[in-house]
Amino acid sequence: MLKNYHLLIFFLLSFASIFLLTGDSLIALLISVSIILTLISIGLFNIQLNLFLKSISRLKTTKKIVFLTFDDGPSPSNTIKILETLKANDLKAIFFCIGAKAKEQPNIVKRIINDGHLIGGHTLHHKWEYAFYNQKRIINEIDKGNDIIKQIAGQEVALFRPPWGITNPRIAFAIKALNLKSIGWSIRSLDTVFKNKQRINDRIINKLKPGRIILLHDSLDITAEILPELIVNIKSKGYSIGSYEEYIK
Ligand SMILES: [Zn+2]
Repeated sequence: MLKNYHLLIFFLLSFASIFLLTGDSLIALLISVSIILTLISIGLFNIQLNLFLKSISRLKTTKKIVFLTFDDGPSPSNTIKILETLKANDLKAIFFCIGAKAKEQPNIVKRIINDGHLIGGHTLHHKWEYAFYNQKRIINEIDKGNDIIKQIAGQEVALFRPPWGITNPRIAFAIKALNLKSIGWSIRSLDTVFKNKQRINDRIINKLKPGRIILLHDSLDITAEILPELIVNIKSKGYSIGSYEEYIK
């Protein structure tokens, strides 16, 4: 997938260059520029393509196992509900916490750790404009968020999920400079978009494949509400929900 995509970029860029070198029409120029811009924007918004940064978006296994991740918490009621559901089902997940929210909810951060889940950073403020900050501010935004979690949890934060899956060369540099492991996803539940529980459930169930990482949000009521049924439905398809230990060191 990765190699094919890079090959495709190379092919299209070569094609665009030939167009530019041999043709002199405005149309040739517009076609070339729009191909390049389209490819860059696909790469910016699709973390699975690994265009700027290598992220783990699925885990290597042929077994029917999928993995849960929860972003944008901790939230006072929903994260607790989700932790209770996970505990009742003896399941583990990764929680990607926003630093500013973690600061407000230190007890929930501690509970995530005490319940045996992994915790990752998700920037200090989760603002979309951070992608346009200069290099130093991007590093700060990521590092300060992680530092709050580290202080509360009493352990290093090694995992990071770029908000909205947006990556660019500066975000990639920051993640490498801070020695973080970037975690993406391969099933986007769209729980932030769909208002209908069945749609969220069906979307996830239809995309189940070995090793896939499911993106959910513990900041949302709907996600806390559907989780018990979603777990039952995933299992009814012959899939188990894995813990990360043997896959992410
Ligand atoms: Zn997020």
